[in-house]
Amino acid sequence: MSEFLPRPCPLCGGTETRAEVQSLHRAETMAFEDVRPYWSGLSQDKRFFSYHRCADCGLLYNPVFFNGAQLGALYSNMAPNMDVVARDAIGATQRGYFERAAAQGPLAGGYLEIGPDVGYIVAEAAGRDVFDHFWLFEPNRAVHDMLRAAAGDRPVTLLPDMEDISAVPDASIGLAVMVHVLDHLLDPRAMLTRLRAKLRPGGTLMIVTHNERSLLRTLMGLRWPPFCLQHPELYNPDTMADLLGRAGYTGVRIERSRNHFPVDFLARQALEAVGIKLDRVPLPKATIGLRLGNMLSLAGTPAQATARTGVEITAAE
Ligand SMILES: [Zn+2]
Repeated sequence: MSEFLPRPCPLCGGTETRAEVQSLHRAETMAFEDVRPYWSGLSQDKRFFSYHRCADCGLLYNPVFFNGAQLGALYSNMAPNMDVVARDAIGATQRGYFERAAAQGPLAGGYLEIGPDVGYIVAEAAGRDVFDHFWLFEPNRAVHDMLRAAAGDRPVTLLPDMEDISAVPDASIGLAVMVHVLDHLLDPRAMLTRLRAKLRPGGTLMIVTHNERSLLRTLMGLRWPPFCLQHPELYNPDTMADLLGRAGYTGVRIERSRNHFPVDFLARQALEAVGIKLDRVPLPKATIGLRLGNMLSLAGTPAQATARTGVEITAAE
């Protein structure tokens, strides 16, 4: 008997699926201890749980995945985040996300972020001097001091459990943020429903995820990095809009988001791809923004529905 968890579609509850993406060695045919070494995704030999498409709603997800206890063991043993891309490029990318949310409407009330990492967006939000309290849910305790520093002199509550946001007062949050978090969750719909109750009238939810309908996915096929052991489901603009609607959000907007890369990083990657190594040659430190396979989703509470209803998707490639 498999040690892994059979699961219905986390969006609609359906169980009828068709297989779409499978690694040569499928994780669901292996023992947990044998899958473990592939968790980080750094191995050239990719192994992941098979992705199926739900026959009812079209979500791409793993009908068999790690159970909660296995996930707990895997996440608690994560190596420190080794950034391939320079920190100023990550900072530029995340500032771009915040700018987009800020352009959505006036910011006020509480700021809530699930999985804020070292707090790039937290620092940006604290700098605006508009939020009265920061609620940060980050399991990696090693970055908690950095997060406190990022919030500056604002009141901050730091909690290690990403799934339990019950401490946050209902209807108090002006901006809730999840960057590359939602496609890691076993039950994203329950999380989004709990989160909606925390938004104040006119509050905004901003989510950044991969887009499984992106050009990059089409070009890379099986090698597309988001096909891995850490993503029990992957979204496209339609399934994201469906999920947000079912969780009670309105005014959904979905756009392709911009990732910033250092110019020298991109140049080296391009030159290495054709066999030229340029280790010692200094290249410009500027960054460039590319819309590469990610999408940014914005949604609000029903109180906003009078101002704007329906779904607007501009993420087609
Ligand atoms: Zn479904």
